[in-house]
Amino acid sequence: MTLALEITGLEKKYQNGVSALRGIDLSVKSGSFFGLLGPNGAGKSTCIAIISSLIKKTNGKVKIFGVDIDKDRDKAKTFLGLVPQEFNFNQFEKVSDILINQAGYYGLSRHAVMPKVDYYLHKLGLFKKRKSIARELSGGMKRRLMIARALVHEPKMLILDEPTAGVDIEIRRDMWHFLEEINAQGVTVILTTHYLEEAEHLCRQLAIIDHGQIIANTSVKELLVRLDKEQVILDLKDPLQSMPVIEGIGLREIDNFTIEVTFNKQLSMNGLFSMLSLHGIEVMSMRNKSNRLEELFLQLTGSQSHDPL
Ligand code: ADP
Repeated sequence: MTLALEITGLEKKYQNGVSALRGIDLSVKSGSFFGLLGPNGAGKSTCIAIISSLIKKTNGKVKIFGVDIDKDRDKAKTFLGLVPQEFNFNQFEKVSDILINQAGYYGLSRHAVMPKVDYYLHKLGLFKKRKSIARELSGGMKRRLMIARALVHEPKMLILDEPTAGVDIEIRRDMWHFLEEINAQGVTVILTTHYLEEAEHLCRQLAIIDHGQIIANTSVKELLVRLDKEQVILDLKDPLQSMPVIEGIGLREIDNFTIEVTFNKQLSMNGLFSMLSLHGIEVMSMRNKSNRLEELFLQLTGSQSHDPL
């Protein structure tokens, strides 16, 4: 199995003494959709900047598709497309020129690259804007331009740092769709995100990083299984008169006809419903609470405890 990314013992100590990464090991399989999560200041951007050779590591090894960045940095870089958080293109350049010039860094001639430029501009809904000056684009378009630029040399791995931060929900969904498509075509995608819903929706593998260390590294499915508590929203047949107290079940009123229920996974749904009906609560319908990963994330990083799983 080819590894798209293989990181061992990665450490970064900045000049001001901050240890941003304290010995990270991380493997990403070729073709996977990988999420790197963690609270602010955890070390995600530092990790990405090292992989992309934007900053120097203090210690450790990084291989991209088997190529050690210390041995052949230029080759390793050809495998990689990076979408950083900040817009870092020349705002006064034309949209299509930004892509053409980027391809030029990888030795692709204007003639050779034109079909790809047009393809990615179409794909990202920017074709009509190809002759516009970049600064005239809306925020969402600028973000898509960053993605098109990262893809124009057709890298095997795309790394995105918070790609949908501040992007409205419709554009976010479009972007998700596009990233899924790119991944289905065989491009390994690694993203950092604050939106756990995004990680749950897109990523098959996740690593959670906190204080410069990996505290979980597994499949999304497996992580969710580790949640011992289940949380559901129930719509009730009759308005709630008073909230019963039931041992082992957490109940919270959302409105007269809706309650949020937290219970241990050992208790089956049947068990839950019979307990509720004993207390005069009849359930009409049930919804899963959307963001289970959020809860897990808080369990892992939010409290004082940083015990590894
Ligand atoms: P994240 O991307 O997870 O928010 P970062 O990698 O940006 O985390 O930051 C990790 C830690 O390194 C933080 O404590 C941050 O303040 C520190 N840091 C980041 N960049 C620098 C820098 N250029 N110089 C010194 N400290 C830095």
